[in-house]
Amino acid sequence: MSANKLIIFSAPSGSGKTTIVRHLLKTYPNQIEFSISATSRPRRGVEENGKDYFYLTSEEFKQKVLNHEFLEWEEVYAGTHYGTLKSEVQKIWNKGKAVIFDIDVEGGLNLKNQFKEDALAVFVMPPSIKILEERLRLRQTDSPESIARRVAKAEKELKTAELFDVFIINEVLEEACSKAEEVVQNFLKH
Ligand code: 5GP
Repeated sequence: MSANKLIIFSAPSGSGKTTIVRHLLKTYPNQIEFSISATSRPRRGVEENGKDYFYLTSEEFKQKVLNHEFLEWEEVYAGTHYGTLKSEVQKIWNKGKAVIFDIDVEGGLNLKNQFKEDALAVFVMPPSIKILEERLRLRQTDSPESIARRVAKAEKELKTAELFDVFIINEVLEEACSKAEEVVQNFLKH
């Protein structure tokens, strides 16, 4: 692999991008590694600190912003911050691997703009907003208010799909995973 590469998976929450990213990590364990983001939101369900996210207090998060420790960061939901730590990304590049991101749409585009052709930006689309809402409900991890917030955000995000290099419609998960394998393999070849 020639350059330090980034593979960005962005999508509305509930579109299945996390499942696709996990599939890719299992398929290409020697070539790609997950960038663990920092967040100020509380841990959810079976999530683990240092595996799913680095869970920080709002104060700790703000301090890292002031120290310029983030490649990008955002207030994804009111009062809840998420960000990509420079140190995480560098650590993975040092191993000779590409970094894969599971990140919201704005953050994804931010990274794409910074890294241009060294970044592959993939947008995962849900088949419809209605199905997205259903998936969020079935996941049973979000309150009705949180689901409403995520759905409202998804409606806006879908409009930005054309700014990405590739988009994948996740209707049948196996098919979406195969398509993801194909685009990632192609990108890593060059
Ligand atoms: P969740 O709370 O469901 O884990 O994540 C909420 C949203 O934040 C998702 O769309 C997720 O992709 C996004 N996110 C996770 N990490 C980061 C990050 O480092 N930066 C940005 N901008 N968004 C992130």
